[in-house]
Amino acid sequence: MKFRMSIRLKLFLSHLVVVVLVSGSIGTYFYLSAAESLMKGLQDRLRSSAAIVSRTIDAKELGNIRSESDISNPAYTANLQKLRNFRRMNTDIAYLYVMRRIGDKVVFVIDSDETERQALPGREYEDVMPSLMQGFTGVSVDDRIYTDEWGSFLSGYAPIENGTGEYLVGIDMRANEVQDKFAKLRMSGLISLTASLILALIFSRFLTARFMVPVRMLIARCQAIAKGRLGERIEFHTSDELNNLIVAFNDMSEELSVSEHRKQEAYDDLRRARDELEIRVQQRTKDLKEVNDMLSREIAERIRAERALEQAAMTDPLTLILNRRAMMDHLRHEMARNQRGSAPFVILVADLDHFKRVNDTEGHDVGDEVLIETARRLTDHIRGQDTVARWGGEEFLILLPDTDLEGGVVAAEKMRARMAAEPYYVGGKEIRLTISIGAAGFVKDQEIEALIKAADVALYRAKNLGRNRVEMAPS
Ligand code: GH3
Ligand code: MG
Ligand code: MG
Repeated sequence: MKFRMSIRLKLFLSHLVVVVLVSGSIGTYFYLSAAESLMKGLQDRLRSSAAIVSRTIDAKELGNIRSESDISNPAYTANLQKLRNFRRMNTDIAYLYVMRRIGDKVVFVIDSDETERQALPGREYEDVMPSLMQGFTGVSVDDRIYTDEWGSFLSGYAPIENGTGEYLVGIDMRANEVQDKFAKLRMSGLISLTASLILALIFSRFLTARFMVPVRMLIARCQAIAKGRLGERIEFHTSDELNNLIVAFNDMSEELSVSEHRKQEAYDDLRRARDELEIRVQQRTKDLKEVNDMLSREIAERIRAERALEQAAMTDPLTLILNRRAMMDHLRHEMARNQRGSAPFVILVADLDHFKRVNDTEGHDVGDEVLIETARRLTDHIRGQDTVARWGGEEFLILLPDTDLEGGVVAAEKMRARMAAEPYYVGGKEIRLTISIGAAGFVKDQEIEALIKAADVALYRAKNLGRNRVEMAPS
C-alpha cells in the first residue's frame, strides 16, 4: 500500500521539525547555560558559606581534639554548638564539619550531624576527592556531585585561617536538593517545548485550513466542470499564489463556458441549415418528380402520337384497312422473304363490278358505306397471315403469303362467291354487288410492278369476260 501524506500532515511535520530544531537548540542552549549558572550559583554559595564559617573558628582551639575521648573538651562542645547553630539557620546545608589533614589522610575533628551517624573526632574520611584536599590551602568546591557513605552531596571547603593548611571547614549540600533545582529547570524547559509543539500544531492547522479551503473549492469546481456545469466562478480570495490559481481557474472556466456556448450556437446553426437543406432537397425532389412525370407523360403522348401518325400513314382513312403505301411495304417484305427462302406468294386485285352505278343511284355516301362494308368482308374472308389493303377507288389488293397460284385462285373464288351471295343492306336498302378478281403468283426475280401489272391484266380480262369471276395471270 502506498503511503499517502496529507498536506496538513506535511505542514505539521515541517512546523514540528522547525520548532524542534529551533526551540530544541535554543532550549538546549538556555537549559545548559541556566544549568551552568545554577551550578555556579550553588558553588559560589557553598564557597562563601564555607569561608564565612571558617573565619568563626580558631585553629588553636582544635589542637586538643584528636579522638572520641575529646568530646567532653569544652573547645569541642563550643565549636560543635557553633556549627550546629549555623546549620540550623541554613536549611540548604545537610552537613557542616571541620576536618584535619594528617599527611595524605583526612580525619574528622567536629561533625555537626545530630544523629547517631555523627562522625566523632579522629575518624578517618576515606572518600577523599581532589576538591577536599584543595580546601586545606584555599577555598574550593566540588565540580560535581559525589557520593560517600552519608549520601550524595555537592560540597564546599574553606581552610581555617590560622590553621596553616592543617584544618578546613566543609559544607555539604544534599544532591537531591541540587537535583530538585535541576529538575525544576528541566520541567520549565519541557513546558516551553510542549507549548512550542502545541503552537506548531495550532499554526499548521490554521495554515492548512487557510490552504485547504481554496483547494477544496478548486476540486469541487473541477468535478462540476467534468459534469458539464461550466462558467461557475470561485468567489474566494487569498493573499498568496493560490489567488493566482483561483483567478486563472475562473478565467479558464469562463473561456470554457463561452466556447461551449459558441459550440452550441454553431451546432444549432448547422442543424437549422441541415433541416433547411433537407426541406429544399425534398422540394427539389418533388419538383423533379413532377417534371419527370410530365416528361414521361409527354414522351408517352408523343410516342402515342407518332404511332397514331405512323398508323395513319399506313391506314386508309375511309375503310381503316391498310392503304396502298403500307401494302407496298408488305409486298417488298414478302418479296425479300421469297428471295431468301423461295416461299411462294400470290396477290389478288379485286374490283367491285359496276360500282359507279351505286354512286349514281344511291349517292356517294352509300357508296362509301359499301366500300367500308366490302373492306370488312374481305378482312373476314382472309387467313390470319393474309393482308388486305385498299388499292385505290373501289379496288382492293390481297396478299396471300406461303400460297401458290392455284391456292390463290381457290381463295379468290371463295371470296368472289361469298360476295356475290351476300347482299349489302345500306339505309334499309338491299344492294347486290359482285367482284372481279385478278390473281398473280410471284415469279422469282420479278419486279413488284410487274407482279401487280400481271394481276391487273388478269383483272382486266375478268372484267372483259363478263365480271363476277376470277382470272389468273399466266405463271
Ligand atoms: P366496272 O365494272 O368496269 O369496274 O365499272 P365501274 O363503274 O365499277 O368502274 P369505273 O372505273 O367506271 O368507276 C369507278 C367508280 O368508283 C368511279 C368513282 O366514282 C367510284 N369511286 C371511286 N372511289 C370512290 C369513293 O371513295 N367513294 C365512292 N362513293 N365512290 C368512288
Ligand atoms: Mg375500278
Ligand atoms: Mg369497278
